[in-house]
Amino acid sequence: MIIEPSKSIGNVPASTLGRATTAAQREVFRAIPKVELHCHLLGAVRRETFAEFVQARGAPISAAEIAAFYERGSKPIGVLRVLRALERYLLLQPDDFRRITYEYLQDAAAENVRHAEFFWNPTATIRDTGLAYGEAQAGILAGIREASADFGISALLIPAIDREAEASHAVEMVELMLAHRDAAAPGIGIDYRENDRPPELFREAYALARRHGLKATAHAGEFGMPWTNVRTAVDLLEVDRIDHGYTIVDNPDLARRYADRGVLFTVVPTNSYYLRTLAPERWAVDHPIRAMSALGLKLHPNTDDPTLHNVSPAGAWELMHSHLGYDVGDLREMMLNGVEGCWANADQKAAWREQWPAAFDALVDETDWPLPASFDR
Ligand SMILES: [Zn+2]
Repeated sequence: MIIEPSKSIGNVPASTLGRATTAAQREVFRAIPKVELHCHLLGAVRRETFAEFVQARGAPISAAEIAAFYERGSKPIGVLRVLRALERYLLLQPDDFRRITYEYLQDAAAENVRHAEFFWNPTATIRDTGLAYGEAQAGILAGIREASADFGISALLIPAIDREAEASHAVEMVELMLAHRDAAAPGIGIDYRENDRPPELFREAYALARRHGLKATAHAGEFGMPWTNVRTAVDLLEVDRIDHGYTIVDNPDLARRYADRGVLFTVVPTNSYYLRTLAPERWAVDHPIRAMSALGLKLHPNTDDPTLHNVSPAGAWELMHSHLGYDVGDLREMMLNGVEGCWANADQKAAWREQWPAAFDALVDETDWPLPASFDR
């Protein structure tokens, strides 16, 4: 049954139809023990911190622009511009990276994210600010250590290839990672605009990472880019998981094969491409996330750019229920998909696999959530 949602969530317009959620259910979304596997550090900068950096650096960004970045309407634009502004003008010292890492993890921990794996693109930082890779990475890792000590959250950094830059910079990024190798940065990713920048351009960088035992993920099939990019990422770049990957639904046979192999897809309900291209009254029913599940793919919901999408981890999980049709048993499965697909060590993962289902069930029991007959503990 589709009814008016109780409130708008993130950048999803209120006119988009969804299921109402109760306050008790919203508390469940917040309190589910969860991992976050797809979040960009620069997309998680608090608005007040951004404004403070603009002022301190004298950056050429007006108050109106800051407002436009952070108050996103139904046709969101400009995330990539904000990220570039941060890289170019605002994040100039290792301590800037430490601070935004700490604040991101503090906000995530407040919604019971127990473990976060987040992206940072080193290429533009090195090129535009003169900061060395090792200095910036050290700032981020210091932020992780402090947040872990203060909030009990664990986290890993995923240095990510800037696919708008030359492929040689991607190889250089992996070489820098290896030169400054740290267990808290166990693998690589790739993001920024996928148009005309297919994964095969970055084959050498991924091969180098794999040869040295780094993990790998890749943004593919975002912005309506073809399913072949997902296939290239999985089969040629040999990634461990896929970020977005929506257009895999255009090749159902391949999707079923990846479902059998258990490839995890980190999906983002607030992804702006579908908010722009699907009509509000069809958005919730036509979203490819639904088709991905129907093909048996393993999914895990994420915020992507939480402060820029105006969404939190709880909001992303709520949208999976309120708009994308998942029920309590599906959410429980997604919680475990996240544990399975994350890069924490095996002992830690085993402990979460053991403890989190009972915690999840206890949360659901405390609500007035009508349990479907299919809910199986
Ligand atoms: Zn992303």
